Amino acid sequence: MNGHNAIAIDGPSGAGKSSLARRAAAHFGYIYVDTGAIYRCVGLAAHRAGINTRDAEAVKEILPALDIRMVYNEAGEQRMILDEEDVSADIRLPEISLCASNVSAHAVVRAYLLEMQRKMAREHDVIMDGRDIGTIVLPDAELKIFLTASAEARAQRRLLELQSKGIESSFDEVLKDIELRDYQDTHRTEAPLRRAEDAVLLDTTEIGFDESFELLCRTIEERLGLKA
Ligand code: C5P
Repeated sequence: MNGHNAIAIDGPSGAGKSSLARRAAAHFGYIYVDTGAIYRCVGLAAHRAGINTRDAEAVKEILPALDIRMVYNEAGEQRMILDEEDVSADIRLPEISLCASNVSAHAVVRAYLLEMQRKMAREHDVIMDGRDIGTIVLPDAELKIFLTASAEARAQRRLLELQSKGIESSFDEVLKDIELRDYQDTHRTEAPLRRAEDAVLLDTTEIGFDESFELLCRTIEERLGLKA
């Protein structure tokens, strides 16, 4: 593919995709692209505009005026800029997760964001994570991984992550949110979350972060012949 390598990582919410992909990208010298953050920007913008995020027509109307940019700071972190404002923290609020899931079901939103994602892969070696990277955004990716874990394990990890950021929540709330998003993401007509036929399945239910990271690195090294 165009002189650059792409590794696509898909999977449900809270499977550890972002943390693992970010660390693997730093390890192999790739750029990490978190595509969920882009959908979250659209979700945040719609939420702020006070529109119903399930209403495709209403969401479509705000798209042309949106200025969403992905920038990387000196530490190599992806920051999301919405209309000149750094919204990287705001897009992580729990209420924005559902807004992101809602807006991501609209074909018009997916089409609008597709080119932004493909451009990143044309210009850099990327590890890109999302829901449809291996199936739709980068179907020719050199390596596709489907990363998953049980809903309970994912809820437990997400709860700890929220708590570390000082965001109050309970296990039941987080589990309910994860199950709802799983359902929406796998049942939508537009680019539903599914494992690409040629994706390697990695299940991290029973293993911790470090072991998952080693498994991911081993998979990348073996499949792509890469060494850090
Ligand atoms: O990955 P994250 O949980 O931040 O994504 C937020 C929401 O954006 C997901 O629930 C999913 O509905 C949507 N999304 C998507 N396609 C992607 C990435 C995220 O539909 N490639």
